[in-house]
Amino acid sequence: MAAFIPQETIDEIMARTDIVELIGGYIPLVRRGKNHVALCPFHSEDTPSFSVSPDKQIFYCFGCQKGGNAAHFVMEIEGLTFPEALRKLASRVGVSVPEYVSPAHKAASAERQTMLRLHELAADFFQACLGAGDNQAGAYLRKRGISAQVARDFKLGYAPEEDWQALYAHLSSQGYTGTLLEKAGLAGKSSKNDRYYDKFHGRLIFPIADYRGQVVAFGGRVLGEGQPKYLNSTQTMIYNKSANLYGLPQAGAAIRQANLAVIMEGYIDVISAHQHGVNNAVASLGTAFTAEHGRLLRRYTERVLLAYDGDSAGAKAAQRGLDILRSQDIEVRILVLPKGQDPDDFLREQGHAGWDKLVSKYSYDILDYLLEEALAKHDGESASGKGAIVRELTPAIAKTKSLVERESFIAKLARRLAVSPATIYADLKKGGFARAAPPADVAVSNSLQQPLAAKASETLQQLWRFAVADKDFFFRARMELGEYFASTSEQKELLALLEGMGDDYNFQPALLLNHIPAENEGLRQYLLKLLQINVSEAESQKWSRELIPIVRAEALQRRNNEIQNALPLSGEPDSFSPEQRRLLQEKQALAEQKHALKG
Ligand SMILES: [Zn+2]
Repeated sequence: MAAFIPQETIDEIMARTDIVELIGGYIPLVRRGKNHVALCPFHSEDTPSFSVSPDKQIFYCFGCQKGGNAAHFVMEIEGLTFPEALRKLASRVGVSVPEYVSPAHKAASAERQTMLRLHELAADFFQACLGAGDNQAGAYLRKRGISAQVARDFKLGYAPEEDWQALYAHLSSQGYTGTLLEKAGLAGKSSKNDRYYDKFHGRLIFPIADYRGQVVAFGGRVLGEGQPKYLNSTQTMIYNKSANLYGLPQAGAAIRQANLAVIMEGYIDVISAHQHGVNNAVASLGTAFTAEHGRLLRRYTERVLLAYDGDSAGAKAAQRGLDILRSQDIEVRILVLPKGQDPDDFLREQGHAGWDKLVSKYSYDILDYLLEEALAKHDGESASGKGAIVRELTPAIAKTKSLVERESFIAKLARRLAVSPATIYADLKKGGFARAAPPADVAVSNSLQQPLAAKASETLQQLWRFAVADKDFFFRARMELGEYFASTSEQKELLALLEGMGDDYNFQPALLLNHIPAENEGLRQYLLKLLQINVSEAESQKWSRELIPIVRAEALQRRNNEIQNALPLSGEPDSFSPEQRRLLQEKQALAEQKHALKG
């Protein structure tokens, strides 16, 4: 339940929690200087790059860039939402969290609980049916080589063929109404005789659980004749297929450990993968990827490998959503399976070792994959074919955030098409991709909006390291630098955030982290990186004396140059326009300020 937790309570929970003690309860920490270090629990490594700061009450991994405050650590390691993590911390330190729940909210919550309970009972029922004597589902699993253990891990079940009211009878005997079963998508009502009948019968049942392991829906594979081959629960108040991944509770720990999620198309692929020891496999539930999938995956990993049968409709659907994952900074690679095979076929034939070989040899970066596809579709020799290939790749290139990645792909594309990179850039530009211009072509403008010159921006970055953790430093820089205090978009966002924190805020970074909106991962990362130095008060004062004047001098010089460029090279001030006269006055004021700085 997404109940609201008041800010004072959040602050109190944070204040009472000691991050070193908290994290030390999960992994062994070793003191190193001011900080504590450990092997990162979120990615596999041999030398510790995970660091916990008792001063700032934050953690950060230099290897996988995961970081945050105590609540973020609990979210990551337990796979919880922010309010869930806070509640967990609250009970640890004995803070009671008030419940503000409206009656409507309460009723919805009660119904939700009932639905969850209903699904749990249904899963138990199907599982018991699978275990009760010989049946088609058991025979099917044996034929596929699925062990009893894996069947148990995934709570696989059987919906009996012959009885159309088996589940209905079982659940109604426990007081659940037909209306509720219908709402849960487990029963339908016959228009002929007004009787309820089971939606799932004669099927192998795959319970779909959310990331906490609560069963929220079912998929059923037909075992004899019949349509459709796969029948899935409809969306309900507890199930949204765009926000769930099949197999996540079983695969979560392995995904974290490998820092990789293998995404397959179907239930059987995932089951087969686990059967063969590929434990980090999950399945999208036949939909294109959504931002919710991205957020869900980001809790476990930032790397995804797509393993679909390339010709399937599901693969097409999945590919449509890849940009969404990439925009959330998830690295996406695509595995090309042998023609006509799905992961289940491949694994049964070649096993885990064969799978690893396949992955190391045939998984492609998304751009390379699209390039191969485009080359297969168009004639890479003819001028029109080359044009078509570049056009097809333009959107994916535009969405590639890393400049290095983009540049090196363009170089590769040029080689493959036997043209110069400049030709590709020209084509990309024609395709409406303005940012594709190579760096040398970028005109240097003198507008006030331009970020500071390189050296000053480095100094400014340095200055922000102190400003985010020291109230005096922040206000001094704010006052002395004015608009030049924030140059990049992150700095501007951070400035707005800090100014909005209120008078009680004493520049405790751990608290600040709670105020960054969940979708602004970029700002969170920026802040975490700023926080990765330790600095004494004396150092801070020394730096404020030295850094602020440097940035200020740069800013003054830059403004001076701008004015210089805006003024005519010669001519009497009398012939100047009012705006030019104003600029001239500003220029004189700047000269005085510069002089004062030196003195
Ligand atoms: Zn890490």
